Amino acid sequence: MMTARQYEESLRKLELEVYMFGKRIENVVDDPILRPSMNAVAATYELAGRPEWAELMTAVSHLTGKRINRFCHIHQNRDDLVKKSKMGRMLGGHTACCFQRCVGMDALNALSIVTYDIDAKCGTKYNERFLKFLAHVQENDLTCDGAMTDPKGDRSLAPRQQTDPDLYLHVVEERPDGIVVSGAKAHQTGAVNSHEIIVMPTVAMREEDKDYAVSFAVPSDTQGITYIIGRQSCDTRKLEAGRMDVGNSFFGGHEALVIFDHLFVPWERVFMYREYEFTGPLVEKFASYHRQSYACKVGVGDVLIGATQTIAEYNGAAKASHIKDKIIEMNQLNETLYCGCIACASEGHPEPSGTYLVDTLLANVHKQNVTRFPYEIARLAQDIAGGLMVTLPSEADLRSPDVGKWIEKYYRGVEGVPVEDRMRILRLIENLTLGSAAVGYLTESMHGAGSPQAQRIMISRLVDLKGKQRKAKRLCGIATESGGSRSGEA
Ligand code: SF4
Ligand code: FE
Repeated sequence: MMTARQYEESLRKLELEVYMFGKRIENVVDDPILRPSMNAVAATYELAGRPEWAELMTAVSHLTGKRINRFCHIHQNRDDLVKKSKMGRMLGGHTACCFQRCVGMDALNALSIVTYDIDAKCGTKYNERFLKFLAHVQENDLTCDGAMTDPKGDRSLAPRQQTDPDLYLHVVEERPDGIVVSGAKAHQTGAVNSHEIIVMPTVAMREEDKDYAVSFAVPSDTQGITYIIGRQSCDTRKLEAGRMDVGNSFFGGHEALVIFDHLFVPWERVFMYREYEFTGPLVEKFASYHRQSYACKVGVGDVLIGATQTIAEYNGAAKASHIKDKIIEMNQLNETLYCGCIACASEGHPEPSGTYLVDTLLANVHKQNVTRFPYEIARLAQDIAGGLMVTLPSEADLRSPDVGKWIEKYYRGVEGVPVEDRMRILRLIENLTLGSAAVGYLTESMHGAGSPQAQRIMISRLVDLKGKQRKAKRLCGIATESGGSRSGEA
């Protein structure tokens, strides 16, 4: 396994073509805006090396029997699934941001199932290729970007109907030694902190769209890949000399548009090619795993609740009964999220390939809750923090020989708490609820791993409504047809 330092050095060796604010970024690792996001991924390496977290952060490879980082592991049983949820919460609490590495883990696990299933039906050799790639990832402790979301153009049109065919990533040429692809993947979390990009189709494809039914992995610095970093609110605060106004001065996240321009992929890196009937299952399995992964937001919630209780104490309001009640509610909402990610893991099952998959219904219910509860938790945090959170002068004002004395005088709270500490905790709450970390805590909770409607469609598909009706009808004496299944059975 790599140490955090070795991970950082490994990124320095990559020759990525990255743009931000219209300019090429030559040194991604040391860029002040991007560095906090590198730090967050580095934490997944650092904590894996600490004995107290070894049980959660590492696992034994089913390929080699060696101890590996859990982010490179294929879940072998329910215990692995539960540990994945616990690891997500722990890391969310450690970084209070998106630590980015789960997407690749979820892509690896989904592909371990689907490549096996395609081979079983079509007699192909995708699983063998995939396992070779997996061994490479495990052996070198790599970070993978799981790239699923295409730009999608006109949402009412199928991939082949778009005016520009590249709006969905597709195969433009087949060669004896591989394929050539063009297109892009949007909103790619942690893209420039990754060693490998694992591409998957974004929706279930039909036969007419089979050139779009493609999955493969390429090293992130392959020629022909361009990264354009997305803006976050308050991002330029990271360029300032002081660190206090950033709120979270250690960790952050980033998203990028990743463009693939006539990119060559050798056959040994291709895991799906035109098997359109397996695009739906791949999308669903990846989405279910990633919906489980949203245990990270529970960990971020822990930090926000801790910050809120602290500001209540600093404000001298912690003993008020309505404040106590609001803190209880924040905890109740946050622990309800935790119930969901633990439940879908505990109810997991083995797929034909041997990989354990979470309970898809519960994973979708969990993610649906994630689209709502963090907003309510954030609302309560802002309620308790008070308006000062958004009217607070800057760190430079606090340090100013001219006006610093006025800040010290008028922003005092309870006796004994330095004004600077009060400002620091307010900045953290601002960072999490409407600053750059709100990208991770709120908007990503809403749209990451699929927007809310995607989960509602899955819930309606997976729930046994007829079975529930039969139960009701039987109890009140209405004649029913026989039959039944999973969640509706008595
Ligand atoms: Fe992992 Fe959460 Fe970031 Fe998704 S949002 S990559 S689950 S930390
Ligand atoms: Fe995400």
